Amino acid sequence: MIPPEIISRVLKSVDSDELIDLTRELVRINSVWDPVVGTCEQPAADRVTKWAEKQGFEVRQDEVEVARPNVLVTWTAGLGKRKMMFEGHTDVVTPGKLADWQYNPFGAEIVGRRMYGRGSCDTKGNLAAMLIAMAALKRSGVKLAGSIIGGVLCDEEDQMIGIRHFIQQGHADKVTAAVICEPEDGMVCTSQKGAVRARYTLTGRMSHGAMPLSGLNIAPAVARLIDGLHELELEAFVQSGKDDLLGWPSFTATVIQAPSAGPPQLNVMPGEALLLVDVRTIPGQSHPDIRNRLIALGDRVQRQVKDDFTAFDQRIELKRSHDLNIDVEFLADRPCTLTTQDDPIVLAADWATQQVTGKEPVHGGVPGATDGTFLWALKHIPIVTIGAGDRQVPHQIDEWVDLDQLIETAKIYTLTALHYLYPGETS
Ligand SMILES: [Zn+2]
Repeated sequence: MIPPEIISRVLKSVDSDELIDLTRELVRINSVWDPVVGTCEQPAADRVTKWAEKQGFEVRQDEVEVARPNVLVTWTAGLGKRKMMFEGHTDVVTPGKLADWQYNPFGAEIVGRRMYGRGSCDTKGNLAAMLIAMAALKRSGVKLAGSIIGGVLCDEEDQMIGIRHFIQQGHADKVTAAVICEPEDGMVCTSQKGAVRARYTLTGRMSHGAMPLSGLNIAPAVARLIDGLHELELEAFVQSGKDDLLGWPSFTATVIQAPSAGPPQLNVMPGEALLLVDVRTIPGQSHPDIRNRLIALGDRVQRQVKDDFTAFDQRIELKRSHDLNIDVEFLADRPCTLTTQDDPIVLAADWATQQVTGKEPVHGGVPGATDGTFLWALKHIPIVTIGAGDRQVPHQIDEWVDLDQLIETAKIYTLTALHYLYPGETS
C-alpha cells in the first residue's frame, strides 16, 4: 500500500503548465524525416536534451543515423532491480497538403482545451507527459527502488531504426517493463496486432493490346490472388475468431500494380505485375503457417492459371508457351504482443488510471505495431501502451490533443512509475 500522502505529494509535483509549454515547443519543431526538404528529428532531440539536462537527469544522445539521434534520459531513483522504461518518439508524419489544414501544422495553436498541430496527438504531447512524469517523481523526493529510463527515439513512423538501435546498443538489457507513450485515449493497452507483409511478383509476357494472344496476360493471376487472399482471411476468421481486444485478423491486398515499373499504357498488355499484401494478426495465429499459406497460394494460382491458358489455347488451336511465374517475397514479420493482465506493469497502470480518473481502467489493444513490438519480441519486455489522444486522429489533418486528457496522462504515467518502483511493491 502506498500512503495517500505520498500519492498526493507526487501528484502535486506534476506541473501542468510546464507540460503544455513543453508540448507546444515540441509541436512547433517540424521533425518530419525529409532529407529533401532538410527536416529531421535532431532539433526536437536537442530540445529534449536541454530540458532533461536542466532537470538534473543523466542524458545522452546516440546518433542512429546522421541527424537522427535517440535521446536517453536516465534517472536512478534508488536501489533495486527494476528498471522501467518510458518510450516516446520525436518524429512525426508529414502534414500533407498545408492548404487542407485549418490550423498551422507547426503552430501548436490552443483553442479552448485543444492543442492543434502535427504530432500534438502522435506523440509529442505524450512524450512531454512522460518527461514531466519523470521530473515530478524526482522533484517530489519520494524514495523509490530502481530506475527509470526515458527513451526519446527517432523513426517510429517508418522503419523503427531508433528502437532497433536502442536494443542493439544494449540499452534494453536491464529494462524490466516499458510504458509505450502513444495516443490510446486513456486505455491501458496490453496487446498489439502482428504483421506479415509480402510482395507477389507476377511475370507473364507483354504484348500489343490489339494482339494479346502473342503475349501472356498476368491479369487473371492477379485476380485469382486477390480472391485467394479473401479466402485466407475467411479461414483465419473461422480458425482464430475475433480477439476481445484486437478484433479480427486481416489479409489485405494494398498495392496492385501492372506494369510493376514504368508508365502504364492503354494499348500495352503488361508483362509484369506486383501485389503487396498486408496481413495483420492476432494472438493464436501462427506466422510461419501464414507464410506457408501465402507461398502455397502463389503456387496454386500459378498452376491454375497455366491450366486455364492451356485449355483456352486448345480451344482456339493456339501454340504459345505458358511461362507464367509467381514469386512471393516477405518484407516484414512483426509478432503480436501480449502482456498478461497480472503483470506488475499492467497492475501499476491499472492502479494509476483508477487513482487519477476515479474510474475502472479500460483495457484495449493496439491495431498497429509500435516501438514496443521490438522490446517485446526481441527482449521479452512486458509492455503497456497508454496515452492521451483520440485513436483516429494521428496522421489526419488538423491533428489535436485534449489538454485535460494530456494532464491526466502525465499523472497516470507518474503514478504508474511510482507503483512499479515503490519499495515493497517490487519483488
Ligand atoms: Zn506514434
